[in-house]
Amino acid sequence: MNAGPAPATVAVVGGGIAGFSAVRELRRRGYAGTLQLIDPDGLPYDRPPLSKAFLAGTLDLPQLELAPRGWYADNAVEVVTDTAVKLDAGHGAPALTLASGGQIHADAVLLAPGARARRLPLPGMDLPGVLTLRSAADALVLRQRLFPGAHLVIIGAGLVGAETASTARALGAAVTMVDSAYLPFERAAGPDLARYLHGLHAAHGTAYLQDTPAAIVAGAGAGAGAGDDALTVVLAAGAALPATTVLVSVGSEPETALAEEAGLQVHDGILVDGSGATSQSGIFAAGDSSRLRNSDGTPGRRFEHWDAARRTGEAAAAGILGVEPPQAAPDWFWSDRYGIHLEMAGSMAGPGRTVLRGEPGPGFMVFRVPPAGTLAGVAAVDGGTAVRAARKLIESGRAVDPAQLQDPAADLRKMARGKS
Ligand SMILES: Cc1cc2nc3c(=O)[nH]c(=O)nc-3n(C[C@H](O)[C@H](O)[C@H](O)COP(=O)(O)OP(=O)(O)OC[C@H]3O[C@@H](n4cnc5c(N)ncnc54)[C@H](O)[C@@H]3O)c2cc1C
Repeated sequence: MNAGPAPATVAVVGGGIAGFSAVRELRRRGYAGTLQLIDPDGLPYDRPPLSKAFLAGTLDLPQLELAPRGWYADNAVEVVTDTAVKLDAGHGAPALTLASGGQIHADAVLLAPGARARRLPLPGMDLPGVLTLRSAADALVLRQRLFPGAHLVIIGAGLVGAETASTARALGAAVTMVDSAYLPFERAAGPDLARYLHGLHAAHGTAYLQDTPAAIVAGAGAGAGAGDDALTVVLAAGAALPATTVLVSVGSEPETALAEEAGLQVHDGILVDGSGATSQSGIFAAGDSSRLRNSDGTPGRRFEHWDAARRTGEAAAAGILGVEPPQAAPDWFWSDRYGIHLEMAGSMAGPGRTVLRGEPGPGFMVFRVPPAGTLAGVAAVDGGTAVRAARKLIESGRAVDPAQLQDPAADLRKMARGKS
Protein backbone atom coordinates (compact mmCIF):
# COMPACT_ATOMS: atom_id res chain seq x y z
CA MET A 1 0.00 0.00 0.00
CA ASN A 2 1.47 3.38 -1.02
CA ALA A 3 0.89 6.22 1.39
CA GLY A 4 -0.05 9.33 -0.62
CA PRO A 5 -0.48 12.70 1.05
CA ALA A 6 -2.77 12.44 4.08
CA PRO A 7 -6.16 14.12 3.60
CA ALA A 8 -6.17 17.66 5.01
CA THR A 9 -9.57 17.18 6.65
CA VAL A 10 -11.36 14.09 7.96
CA ALA A 11 -14.99 13.95 9.12
CA VAL A 12 -16.27 10.96 11.10
CA VAL A 13 -20.02 10.25 11.28
CA GLY A 14 -20.83 8.46 14.55
CA GLY A 15 -19.16 8.59 17.94
CA GLY A 16 -19.51 4.96 18.98
CA ILE A 17 -16.48 2.76 19.61
CA ALA A 18 -15.80 2.52 15.84
CA GLY A 19 -15.77 6.28 15.17
CA PHE A 20 -13.93 7.04 18.40
CA SER A 21 -11.28 4.34 17.75
CA ALA A 22 -10.72 5.79 14.29
CA VAL A 23 -10.05 9.34 15.51
CA ARG A 24 -7.85 8.06 18.36
CA GLU A 25 -5.87 5.92 15.90
CA LEU A 26 -5.50 8.79 13.42
CA ARG A 27 -3.93 10.97 16.11
CA ARG A 28 -1.87 8.03 17.46
CA ARG A 29 -0.41 7.60 13.99
CA GLY A 30 0.51 11.30 13.94
CA TYR A 31 -2.25 12.63 11.70
CA ALA A 32 -2.10 16.41 12.07
CA GLY A 33 -5.03 17.54 9.89
CA THR A 34 -8.51 18.74 10.85
CA LEU A 35 -10.59 16.07 12.56
CA GLN A 36 -14.34 16.38 13.19
CA LEU A 37 -16.54 13.79 14.91
CA ILE A 38 -20.29 14.15 14.39
CA ASP A 39 -22.85 12.52 16.68
CA PRO A 40 -26.27 13.73 17.88
CA ASP A 41 -25.37 12.46 21.38
CA GLY A 42 -22.18 14.56 21.54
CA LEU A 43 -19.28 12.93 23.38
CA PRO A 44 -18.63 9.28 22.50
CA TYR A 45 -19.82 6.72 25.02
CA ASP A 46 -19.69 2.97 25.36
CA ARG A 47 -22.67 0.70 24.75
CA PRO A 48 -21.94 -2.70 26.41
CA PRO A 49 -22.76 -1.40 29.94
CA LEU A 50 -26.24 -0.32 28.75
CA SER A 51 -27.64 -3.77 29.54
CA LYS A 52 -25.34 -4.32 32.54
CA ALA A 53 -23.96 -1.80 35.08
CA PHE A 54 -25.58 1.30 33.51
CA LEU A 55 -29.00 -0.38 33.46
CA ALA A 56 -28.42 -1.54 37.03
CA GLY A 57 -27.67 2.06 38.03
CA THR A 58 -24.15 1.38 39.27
CA LEU A 59 -22.49 3.37 36.43
CA ASP A 60 -23.57 6.84 35.37
CA LEU A 61 -23.31 8.53 31.98
CA PRO A 62 -19.94 10.28 32.53
CA GLN A 63 -18.48 6.88 33.48
CA LEU A 64 -19.60 5.50 30.10
CA GLU A 65 -17.65 8.10 28.15
CA LEU A 66 -14.87 6.64 26.03
CA ALA A 67 -12.34 9.36 26.91
CA PRO A 68 -11.99 12.05 29.57
CA ARG A 69 -13.62 15.29 28.41
CA GLY A 70 -10.29 17.08 28.05
CA TRP A 71 -9.01 14.45 25.58
CA TYR A 72 -10.84 16.01 22.63
CA ALA A 73 -9.33 19.47 23.11
CA ASP A 74 -5.91 17.96 23.86
CA ASN A 75 -6.07 16.01 20.59
CA ALA A 76 -7.70 18.73 18.49
CA VAL A 77 -10.80 16.64 17.78
CA GLU A 78 -13.88 18.79 17.24
CA VAL A 79 -17.03 17.02 18.47
CA VAL A 80 -20.02 18.29 16.46
CA THR A 81 -23.29 17.53 18.26
CA ASP A 82 -25.50 17.02 15.22
CA THR A 83 -26.85 14.38 12.85
CA ALA A 84 -25.56 13.88 9.32
CA VAL A 85 -28.66 13.70 7.13
CA LYS A 86 -27.05 13.55 3.70
CA LEU A 87 -23.76 12.47 2.19
CA ASP A 88 -22.77 13.80 -1.20
CA ALA A 89 -20.09 11.39 -2.37
CA GLY A 90 -18.68 14.02 -4.78
CA HIS A 91 -15.65 12.82 -6.70
CA GLY A 92 -12.99 12.54 -4.05
CA ALA A 93 -14.50 15.61 -2.30
CA PRO A 94 -17.34 14.34 -0.11
CA ALA A 95 -19.73 16.68 1.69
CA LEU A 96 -22.05 16.07 4.62
CA THR A 97 -25.28 17.97 5.28
CA LEU A 98 -26.22 18.22 8.95
CA ALA A 99 -29.70 18.27 10.50
CA SER A 100 -28.96 21.80 11.74
CA GLY A 101 -28.53 22.89 8.10
CA GLY A 102 -24.73 23.16 8.25
CA GLN A 103 -22.38 21.50 5.78
CA ILE A 104 -19.06 19.79 6.33
CA HIS A 105 -16.66 19.33 3.43
CA ALA A 106 -13.87 16.87 4.07
CA ASP A 107 -11.19 15.16 2.04
CA ALA A 108 -12.11 11.88 3.69
CA VAL A 109 -15.34 10.81 5.41
CA LEU A 110 -15.65 7.81 7.72
CA LEU A 111 -19.16 6.44 8.15
CA ALA A 112 -19.50 4.82 11.59
CA PRO A 113 -23.21 5.30 12.39
CA GLY A 114 -23.55 1.84 13.94
CA ALA A 115 -26.84 0.01 13.97
CA ARG A 116 -30.34 0.46 15.33
CA ALA A 117 -32.36 -2.06 17.32
CA ARG A 118 -34.49 -4.18 15.00
CA ARG A 119 -38.23 -3.72 15.41
CA LEU A 120 -40.85 -6.37 14.77
CA PRO A 121 -43.77 -5.92 12.37
CA LEU A 122 -46.07 -6.64 15.28
CA PRO A 123 -49.41 -5.05 16.25
CA GLY A 124 -48.73 -2.99 19.38
CA MET A 125 -45.03 -2.32 18.65
CA ASP A 126 -45.64 1.44 19.11
CA LEU A 127 -47.48 1.21 22.43
CA PRO A 128 -46.01 3.10 25.41
CA GLY A 129 -43.98 0.63 27.46
CA VAL A 130 -42.87 -1.38 24.40
CA LEU A 131 -39.14 -0.60 24.23
CA THR A 132 -35.90 -1.39 22.44
CA LEU A 133 -32.38 -0.96 23.87
CA ARG A 134 -29.58 0.65 21.88
CA SER A 135 -28.75 4.03 23.44
CA ALA A 136 -28.14 5.44 26.91
CA ALA A 137 -31.51 7.23 26.62
CA ASP A 138 -33.21 3.86 25.93
CA ALA A 139 -31.49 2.36 28.98
CA LEU A 140 -32.63 5.22 31.23
CA VAL A 141 -36.27 4.74 30.15
CA LEU A 142 -36.01 0.98 30.77
CA ARG A 143 -34.27 1.43 34.14
CA GLN A 144 -37.16 3.54 35.49
CA ARG A 145 -39.52 0.66 34.77
CA LEU A 146 -37.56 -2.10 36.55
CA PHE A 147 -38.40 -2.54 40.25
CA PRO A 148 -40.02 -5.12 42.50
CA GLY A 149 -43.59 -5.61 41.29
CA ALA A 150 -42.76 -4.76 37.66
CA HIS A 151 -43.04 -7.52 35.04
CA LEU A 152 -40.71 -7.37 32.06
CA VAL A 153 -41.40 -9.53 29.02
CA ILE A 154 -38.33 -9.78 26.79
CA ILE A 155 -38.87 -10.84 23.20
CA GLY A 156 -35.57 -12.35 22.01
CA ALA A 157 -33.03 -14.41 23.97
CA GLY A 158 -29.83 -13.11 22.35
CA LEU A 159 -26.93 -11.50 24.20
CA VAL A 160 -28.67 -8.21 24.99
CA GLY A 161 -31.94 -9.94 25.95
CA ALA A 162 -30.17 -12.37 28.29
CA GLU A 163 -28.10 -9.62 29.94
CA THR A 164 -31.17 -7.43 30.40
CA ALA A 165 -33.05 -10.34 31.99
CA SER A 166 -30.20 -10.78 34.45
CA THR A 167 -30.09 -7.07 35.36
CA ALA A 168 -33.88 -6.83 35.65
CA ARG A 169 -33.96 -9.82 38.03
CA ALA A 170 -31.26 -8.19 40.16
CA LEU A 171 -33.46 -5.07 40.33
CA GLY A 172 -36.34 -7.19 41.60
CA ALA A 173 -38.56 -7.28 38.50
CA ALA A 174 -40.29 -10.47 37.34
CA VAL A 175 -38.98 -11.49 33.91
CA THR A 176 -40.40 -13.71 31.18
CA MET A 177 -38.36 -14.29 28.04
CA VAL A 178 -39.86 -15.45 24.75
CA ASP A 179 -37.85 -16.84 21.85
CA SER A 180 -38.53 -19.30 19.04
CA ALA A 181 -35.33 -21.25 19.84
CA TYR A 182 -35.47 -24.42 21.92
CA LEU A 183 -31.91 -23.74 23.10
CA PRO A 184 -30.73 -20.18 22.37
CA PHE A 185 -27.06 -19.70 21.51
CA GLU A 186 -26.57 -23.38 20.57
CA ARG A 187 -25.04 -22.65 17.16
CA ALA A 188 -22.71 -19.94 18.49
CA ALA A 189 -21.57 -21.69 21.68
CA GLY A 190 -22.18 -25.41 21.12
CA PRO A 191 -24.83 -27.43 23.02
CA ASP A 192 -22.96 -27.96 26.33
CA LEU A 193 -22.22 -24.31 26.99
CA ALA A 194 -25.59 -23.20 25.58
CA ARG A 195 -27.40 -25.58 27.98
CA TYR A 196 -25.43 -24.21 30.94
CA LEU A 197 -26.11 -20.58 29.95
CA HIS A 198 -29.78 -21.31 29.36
CA GLY A 199 -30.08 -23.01 32.75
CA LEU A 200 -28.97 -19.78 34.44
CA HIS A 201 -32.27 -18.14 33.46
CA ALA A 202 -34.36 -20.67 35.41
CA ALA A 203 -31.86 -20.71 38.28
CA HIS A 204 -32.32 -16.94 38.68
CA GLY A 205 -36.09 -16.93 38.29
CA THR A 206 -36.38 -15.82 34.65
CA ALA A 207 -39.19 -17.73 32.96
CA TYR A 208 -38.52 -18.90 29.41
CA LEU A 209 -41.15 -19.70 26.78
CA GLN A 210 -40.33 -21.17 23.39
CA ASP A 211 -42.86 -19.35 21.22
CA THR A 212 -43.26 -16.33 18.93
CA PRO A 213 -45.22 -13.17 19.70
CA ALA A 214 -48.34 -12.50 17.63
CA ALA A 215 -49.34 -9.11 19.09
CA ILE A 216 -48.87 -6.75 22.01
CA VAL A 217 -52.05 -5.18 23.33
CA ALA A 218 -52.67 -2.42 25.87
CA GLY A 219 -54.38 -3.49 29.06
CA ALA A 220 -54.23 -6.55 31.25
CA GLY A 221 -55.18 -9.92 29.87
CA ALA A 222 -57.12 -12.41 31.92
CA GLY A 223 -55.50 -12.96 35.30
CA ALA A 224 -53.14 -9.98 35.11
CA GLY A 225 -53.16 -7.16 37.61
CA ALA A 226 -54.77 -4.02 36.15
CA GLY A 227 -52.79 -0.78 35.94
CA ASP A 228 -52.12 2.16 33.61
CA ASP A 229 -49.01 0.50 32.28
CA ALA A 230 -50.55 -2.95 31.79
CA LEU A 231 -49.66 -4.68 28.55
CA THR A 232 -50.35 -8.17 27.28
CA VAL A 233 -48.09 -10.09 24.93
CA VAL A 234 -50.17 -12.55 22.92
CA LEU A 235 -48.15 -15.52 21.70
CA ALA A 236 -48.66 -17.51 18.50
CA ALA A 237 -49.63 -20.61 20.49
CA GLY A 238 -52.38 -18.58 22.18
CA ALA A 239 -50.90 -17.78 25.62
CA ALA A 240 -51.33 -14.22 26.94
CA LEU A 241 -48.43 -12.87 29.02
CA PRO A 242 -49.07 -9.96 31.36
CA ALA A 243 -46.37 -7.27 31.38
CA THR A 244 -45.70 -3.78 32.64
CA THR A 245 -42.88 -3.38 30.09
CA VAL A 246 -41.99 -5.25 26.92
CA LEU A 247 -38.44 -5.20 25.60
CA VAL A 248 -38.09 -6.18 21.95
CA SER A 249 -34.52 -7.44 21.69
CA VAL A 250 -34.24 -9.19 18.35
CA GLY A 251 -30.88 -8.00 17.02
CA SER A 252 -29.88 -4.93 15.11
CA GLU A 253 -29.98 -3.48 11.61
CA PRO A 254 -27.04 -1.53 10.19
CA GLU A 255 -27.51 2.20 9.63
CA THR A 256 -26.93 2.39 5.89
CA ALA A 257 -29.30 5.14 4.71
CA LEU A 258 -26.60 7.82 4.19
CA ALA A 259 -24.43 5.37 2.25
CA GLU A 260 -27.29 4.04 0.12
CA GLU A 261 -28.51 7.51 -0.82
CA ALA A 262 -24.95 8.47 -1.75
CA GLY A 263 -24.77 5.49 -4.13
CA LEU A 264 -22.27 3.39 -2.13
CA GLN A 265 -22.39 -0.40 -2.39
CA VAL A 266 -24.49 -1.72 0.48
CA HIS A 267 -25.61 -5.25 1.25
CA ASP A 268 -26.93 -5.49 4.81
CA GLY A 269 -24.00 -3.25 5.75
CA ILE A 270 -21.79 -0.78 3.92
CA LEU A 271 -19.38 -2.96 1.94
CA VAL A 272 -15.72 -2.30 2.73
CA ASP A 273 -12.30 -3.82 2.20
CA GLY A 274 -9.85 -4.57 5.00
CA SER A 275 -8.89 -0.88 5.18
CA GLY A 276 -12.48 0.30 5.51
CA ALA A 277 -12.56 1.65 1.94
CA THR A 278 -16.06 1.70 0.45
CA SER A 279 -16.95 1.62 -3.25
CA GLN A 280 -16.40 5.45 -3.43
CA SER A 281 -12.96 6.96 -3.11
CA GLY A 282 -12.52 9.19 -0.08
CA ILE A 283 -15.33 7.45 1.83
CA PHE A 284 -14.65 4.80 4.46
CA ALA A 285 -16.88 2.82 6.82
CA ALA A 286 -16.36 0.89 10.07
CA GLY A 287 -18.19 -0.74 12.95
CA ASP A 288 -21.66 -2.28 13.09
CA SER A 289 -22.75 -0.36 9.98
CA SER A 290 -20.06 -1.98 7.81
CA ARG A 291 -19.56 -5.40 6.30
CA LEU A 292 -16.29 -6.78 4.99
CA ARG A 293 -16.24 -7.77 1.33
CA ASN A 294 -14.56 -11.15 0.80
CA SER A 295 -11.56 -11.30 -1.51
CA ASP A 296 -13.86 -12.72 -4.26
CA GLY A 297 -16.13 -9.67 -3.91
CA THR A 298 -18.99 -11.47 -2.12
CA PRO A 299 -20.23 -9.96 1.17
CA GLY A 300 -18.66 -11.52 4.27
CA ARG A 301 -20.08 -11.76 7.77
CA ARG A 302 -21.23 -8.55 9.47
CA PHE A 303 -19.89 -8.43 13.02
CA GLU A 304 -21.88 -6.68 15.74
CA HIS A 305 -19.38 -6.75 18.58
CA TRP A 306 -17.42 -4.10 20.41
CA ASP A 307 -13.99 -5.44 19.50
CA ALA A 308 -14.83 -5.79 15.80
CA ALA A 309 -16.05 -2.16 15.82
CA ARG A 310 -12.83 -1.02 17.52
CA ARG A 311 -10.61 -2.97 15.12
CA THR A 312 -12.46 -1.86 11.98
CA GLY A 313 -12.31 1.76 13.20
CA GLU A 314 -8.54 1.46 13.59
CA ALA A 315 -8.24 -0.26 10.19
CA ALA A 316 -10.20 2.57 8.57
CA ALA A 317 -7.86 5.12 10.17
CA ALA A 318 -4.95 3.33 8.48
CA GLY A 319 -6.93 3.24 5.23
CA ILE A 320 -7.56 6.99 5.41
CA LEU A 321 -3.82 7.56 5.80
CA GLY A 322 -3.04 5.11 2.98
CA VAL A 323 -0.97 2.78 5.18
CA GLU A 324 -1.31 -0.94 5.89
CA PRO A 325 -4.07 -1.72 8.42
CA PRO A 326 -3.24 -3.84 11.49
CA GLN A 327 -3.43 -7.58 10.86
CA ALA A 328 -6.94 -9.05 11.06
CA ALA A 329 -7.62 -10.88 14.36
CA PRO A 330 -10.15 -13.56 15.33
CA ASP A 331 -13.57 -12.25 16.33
CA TRP A 332 -13.85 -11.81 20.10
CA PHE A 333 -16.69 -10.78 22.37
CA TRP A 334 -17.87 -11.05 25.94
CA SER A 335 -21.16 -11.10 27.79
CA ASP A 336 -21.99 -10.75 31.50
CA ARG A 337 -25.07 -12.29 33.07
CA TYR A 338 -26.17 -13.62 36.48
CA GLY A 339 -22.70 -13.00 37.91
CA ILE A 340 -20.72 -14.91 35.29
CA HIS A 341 -18.44 -13.53 32.58
CA LEU A 342 -18.54 -15.26 29.21
CA GLU A 343 -15.92 -14.77 26.50
CA MET A 344 -15.83 -16.23 23.01
CA ALA A 345 -13.27 -15.98 20.22
CA GLY A 346 -13.07 -17.28 16.68
CA SER A 347 -15.94 -19.42 15.47
CA MET A 348 -17.70 -22.36 17.10
CA ALA A 349 -19.77 -23.03 13.97
CA GLY A 350 -18.42 -24.97 11.00
CA PRO A 351 -17.37 -28.61 10.66
CA GLY A 352 -15.19 -30.27 13.26
CA ARG A 353 -15.39 -31.60 16.79
CA THR A 354 -16.10 -29.89 20.08
CA VAL A 355 -13.65 -30.43 22.93
CA LEU A 356 -14.69 -29.65 26.51
CA ARG A 357 -12.47 -28.66 29.43
CA GLY A 358 -13.95 -28.91 32.92
CA GLU A 359 -17.59 -29.05 33.93
CA PRO A 360 -20.32 -26.55 33.05
CA GLY A 361 -19.83 -23.69 35.52
CA PRO A 362 -17.05 -21.21 36.26
CA GLY A 363 -13.82 -22.28 34.52
CA PHE A 364 -15.68 -24.34 31.87
CA MET A 365 -14.14 -24.07 28.39
CA VAL A 366 -15.31 -25.24 24.99
CA PHE A 367 -13.02 -25.52 21.95
CA ARG A 368 -13.89 -26.07 18.30
CA VAL A 369 -11.35 -28.12 16.35
CA PRO A 370 -11.97 -28.36 12.58
CA PRO A 371 -10.84 -31.41 10.55
CA ALA A 372 -7.51 -29.66 9.80
CA GLY A 373 -6.63 -30.07 13.50
CA THR A 374 -6.11 -26.37 14.24
CA LEU A 375 -8.19 -24.33 16.70
CA ALA A 376 -11.16 -22.48 15.17
CA GLY A 377 -13.06 -21.25 18.21
CA VAL A 378 -13.06 -21.04 22.00
CA ALA A 379 -15.56 -20.04 24.66
CA ALA A 380 -15.09 -19.86 28.41
CA VAL A 381 -17.03 -19.08 31.56
CA ASP A 382 -14.97 -16.83 33.88
CA GLY A 383 -11.85 -17.62 31.84
CA GLY A 384 -10.70 -14.38 30.22
CA THR A 385 -6.98 -15.12 30.55
CA ALA A 386 -7.39 -18.58 29.01
CA VAL A 387 -9.42 -17.12 26.13
CA ARG A 388 -6.65 -14.56 25.48
CA ALA A 389 -4.16 -17.43 25.17
CA ALA A 390 -6.55 -19.45 23.01
CA ARG A 391 -6.96 -16.46 20.68
CA LYS A 392 -3.22 -16.53 20.09
CA LEU A 393 -3.47 -20.25 19.41
CA ILE A 394 -6.22 -19.59 16.84
CA GLU A 395 -4.07 -16.86 15.23
CA SER A 396 -1.01 -19.12 15.16
CA GLY A 397 -2.77 -21.72 13.01
CA ARG A 398 -0.85 -24.41 14.98
CA ALA A 399 -2.20 -27.97 15.16
CA VAL A 400 -3.69 -28.67 18.59
CA ASP A 401 -3.84 -31.85 20.62
CA PRO A 402 -7.45 -32.36 21.82
CA ALA A 403 -6.21 -34.28 24.88
CA GLN A 404 -4.23 -31.21 25.95
CA LEU A 405 -7.14 -28.87 25.28
CA GLN A 406 -9.25 -31.05 27.55
CA ASP A 407 -6.71 -31.05 30.38
CA PRO A 408 -7.23 -28.14 32.83
CA ALA A 409 -3.53 -28.45 33.79
CA ALA A 410 -2.28 -27.89 30.20
CA ASP A 411 -1.08 -24.29 29.76
CA LEU A 412 -2.74 -22.68 26.73
CA ARG A 413 -0.16 -19.88 26.69
CA LYS A 414 2.62 -22.42 26.22
CA MET A 415 0.59 -24.19 23.54
CA ALA A 416 0.17 -20.84 21.73
CA ARG A 417 3.95 -20.41 21.80
CA GLY A 418 4.41 -23.97 20.49
CA LYS A 419 6.08 -25.04 23.76
CA SER A 420 3.63 -27.59 25.07
C1 LIG B 1 -27.17 -2.97 25.16
C2 LIG B 1 -25.95 -3.43 24.41
C3 LIG B 1 -25.03 -4.27 25.03
C4 LIG B 1 -23.91 -4.74 24.34
N1 LIG B 1 -23.03 -5.56 24.98
C5 LIG B 1 -21.95 -6.00 24.31
C6 LIG B 1 -21.00 -6.86 24.96
O1 LIG B 1 -21.16 -7.22 26.12
N2 LIG B 1 -19.93 -7.28 24.24
C7 LIG B 1 -19.72 -6.92 22.94
O2 LIG B 1 -18.72 -7.34 22.35
N3 LIG B 1 -20.60 -6.10 22.31
C8 LIG B 1 -21.70 -5.63 22.95
N4 LIG B 1 -22.59 -4.81 22.33
C9 LIG B 1 -22.35 -4.46 20.92
C10 LIG B 1 -21.45 -3.24 20.80
O3 LIG B 1 -21.83 -2.26 21.72
C11 LIG B 1 -21.52 -2.71 19.37
O4 LIG B 1 -21.00 -3.70 18.52
C12 LIG B 1 -20.74 -1.41 19.23
O5 LIG B 1 -21.32 -0.41 20.00
C13 LIG B 1 -20.72 -0.97 17.77
O6 LIG B 1 -20.01 0.23 17.69
P1 LIG B 1 -20.27 1.26 16.52
O7 LIG B 1 -19.38 2.42 16.80
O8 LIG B 1 -20.16 0.58 15.20
O9 LIG B 1 -21.80 1.69 16.62
P2 LIG B 1 -22.62 2.39 17.78
O10 LIG B 1 -22.07 2.04 19.12
O11 LIG B 1 -24.04 2.07 17.49
O12 LIG B 1 -22.36 3.95 17.56
C14 LIG B 1 -22.85 4.61 16.43
C15 LIG B 1 -22.98 6.07 16.74
O13 LIG B 1 -23.34 6.75 15.53
C16 LIG B 1 -24.28 7.76 15.82
N5 LIG B 1 -25.03 8.04 14.59
C17 LIG B 1 -25.91 7.24 13.95
N6 LIG B 1 -26.39 7.85 12.84
C18 LIG B 1 -25.77 9.05 12.78
C19 LIG B 1 -25.85 10.14 11.86
N7 LIG B 1 -26.63 10.09 10.77
N8 LIG B 1 -25.09 11.24 12.10
C20 LIG B 1 -24.26 11.29 13.17
N9 LIG B 1 -24.15 10.28 14.08
C21 LIG B 1 -24.91 9.19 13.87
C22 LIG B 1 -25.12 7.17 16.94
O14 LIG B 1 -25.72 8.22 17.72
C23 LIG B 1 -24.09 6.39 17.73
O15 LIG B 1 -23.56 7.14 18.80
C24 LIG B 1 -23.71 -4.34 23.00
C25 LIG B 1 -24.64 -3.48 22.37
C26 LIG B 1 -25.75 -3.03 23.06
C27 LIG B 1 -26.74 -2.12 22.37
